[in-house]
Amino acid sequence: MHEYSLAQALLAGLQDHLRRNPVPGRVVKVHVRKGELLSLSEWALREAWRLLTEGTELAGSELVLENVPVRVRCPACGYAGEARRLTEEGWHIAVPILSCPRCGSPVEVLEGRDLAIVGLTVGEAPGT
Ligand SMILES: [Zn+2]
Repeated sequence: MHEYSLAQALLAGLQDHLRRNPVPGRVVKVHVRKGELLSLSEWALREAWRLLTEGTELAGSELVLENVPVRVRCPACGYAGEARRLTEEGWHIAVPILSCPRCGSPVEVLEGRDLAIVGLTVGEAPGT
């Protein structure tokens, strides 16, 4: 399952970070940026997180997902910014297009493809 391996990678990264930078309490929220191009089920990701963190120091923590719009760069004309969107009538969502809004060349994706932990909310230590 796609979401399961993403959650595993997040957890491994976070545990490694916490070993080197311990926090004075329990992690209650994990803030994650989710790229617009990354298709995943938020429900499945949260569920995988709940299962994977069971019995770890992160048990009971909640994933807070923030959606990040796609940012692209055009090697032909140097444009950098948000991707052009397909917003024709009849489309319910605005689909990003991977061609340059300025010159139409294929663009490189700078941001919007992955998951990244951007912050933690730390609660009081248990028993206090
Ligand atoms: Zn261009």
